[in-house]
Amino acid sequence: MKDKNCIFCKIINGEIPSSIVYEDDDVLAILDISQATYGHTLVMPKVHFTSFLDVPHDVMHKVMDVAQRIGQVEIKLLGAKGVNILSNCYEAAGQSVMHFHVHVIPRYQEEEGFRLEMKSHPDNLNLPALAEAITKNLK
Ligand code: AMP
Ligand code: ZN
Repeated sequence: MKDKNCIFCKIINGEIPSSIVYEDDDVLAILDISQATYGHTLVMPKVHFTSFLDVPHDVMHKVMDVAQRIGQVEIKLLGAKGVNILSNCYEAAGQSVMHFHVHVIPRYQEEEGFRLEMKSHPDNLNLPALAEAITKNLK
């Protein structure tokens, strides 16, 4: 299953060059072309799914396994002090390539090309009710 208009499917097919970090029958990992930090890697399934939210469990597990191993290498080999593992799901969350992928971003110091900032939410939220609603809808 490939999407002929998808840039990552083209990379997987070898139609577009990339710097391959890891490859097996199901998973490809490449260096992100924009290198938010040194060693910034993308891990993706070879089959086209839109996002983390759409991918079957077995495929997700294979991708996350490789992401974990690459993060470990970024610490040991590249001397990163930490690693951000993240996957943007849909445009509103900043996803620009609609082929599921996980960013593995080594962190060396606070002020770099990547920053993850979470601002606190408005007051007066009913957190117990919100938690209950989400719980009830979990499959
Ligand atoms: P996202 O915005 O989460 O969908 O991430 C997409 C990522 O793909 C961005 O960080 C881009 O820099 C990266 N990217 C886009 N085109 C290429 C390419 N040809 N080779 C490697 N990385 C790419
Ligand atoms: Zn694709």
